[in-house]
Amino acid sequence: MRSKLMEMLESRKVEMIEIRRYLHENPELSFKEEKTAQYIIDFYKGKDVEVQSNVGNGYGIIVTIKGGKPGKNIGLRADFDALPIVEETDVPFKSKNEGVMHGCGHDGHTAYLLVLAGCLIQLKSEIAGTIKIIHQHAEEAPPGGAKSIVESGVLDGLDAIFGIHLFPIKPAGYIGYRSGYAMAGRTYFNLKIQGVGGHGSSPHLANDSIVAGAHFITAVQTVISRRLNPFEVGVITIGSFDGKGTFNVIKDSVELEGDVRYMTVETQQLIEKEVHRIVRGIEAEFGVSCELTYTADYPPLYNDPKITADVKASLESMNDPDIKEIFEGPMLSGSEDFAYYLEKIPGCFFYIGCSPKGVEKPYFNHHPKFDIDEDALLIAAKSVGQVVCNFSE
Ligand code: MN
Repeated sequence: MRSKLMEMLESRKVEMIEIRRYLHENPELSFKEEKTAQYIIDFYKGKDVEVQSNVGNGYGIIVTIKGGKPGKNIGLRADFDALPIVEETDVPFKSKNEGVMHGCGHDGHTAYLLVLAGCLIQLKSEIAGTIKIIHQHAEEAPPGGAKSIVESGVLDGLDAIFGIHLFPIKPAGYIGYRSGYAMAGRTYFNLKIQGVGGHGSSPHLANDSIVAGAHFITAVQTVISRRLNPFEVGVITIGSFDGKGTFNVIKDSVELEGDVRYMTVETQQLIEKEVHRIVRGIEAEFGVSCELTYTADYPPLYNDPKITADVKASLESMNDPDIKEIFEGPMLSGSEDFAYYLEKIPGCFFYIGCSPKGVEKPYFNHHPKFDIDEDALLIAAKSVGQVVCNFSE
């Protein structure tokens, strides 16, 4: 099956590129990917598989490929949403949907997985076990699509799950893996501080919410610098503080918004506990009242060490001239809702290098000039195909 699959993928490289370009030209925002979902559904028309649409909290699609022999059940996921970015590339298939752009490579993820799924359907009788293809909506916007797909139960019984991301950290042909925690978890918080307004000349008759807010901002940074084990990583960013008022009026209330990142669940819990404590401290210290909304969204992404070791070994054994190097990828401080699948199902999310040829400093994902080397699509298809063969041959 392996050699047949690889030959089929090679012969359909152009098709992958065409699909990617079509999707790139027609991007849709998270939770609004109606046409993209229809395009994916149409791809499977007339093919001998079960297709479930509108899975989860949006346009999620699950395609079930039942193999001809008993074996393991695995899931393969690609996301298909785009971003609210005005595209600034010069590619001939630039976004036709002004203000929306496939700036994270999800067009490429979907293109390679469609073609790989098409090949696997043709080879179905040789597959051991069941393969579920997960075309996921809304990765970019919390709460994301992954959590709802997991909760819908359609993935119950999977033994392993795999996904890739195109990152221009290396050229096409380089594949990055990382065992254990690989990408950061993320929390959003909002803090409302209620004091008492008054005349700028008479602070003793008021209770200044700006002073309390400023203390919170300073104090909360000590969670990272003074509470967190220096060998662990975390980030707290206050991105918004609405102190705007009038020079001689003491402001009665302020609102702050922040972003927290961490690489482990333990760090997540520690930061959450400490932020709550500082909020209580601000109340006690300044006599204000605080309302904190603290919402964790995507969890830290954890790659199962055993499965990741298997993935690494099987990629290294590929003997394919297109594949240059399998390298240990960096921890990434970005977040991914693939983490929700990995909370329930062991698996591996790995990185496919895609820096455009001849570009020394490629634009990173989410940049208006982000672009990929389309050779990376075949690399993605072949490497995930290799992993599938390992589990399902
Ligand atoms: Mn992405």
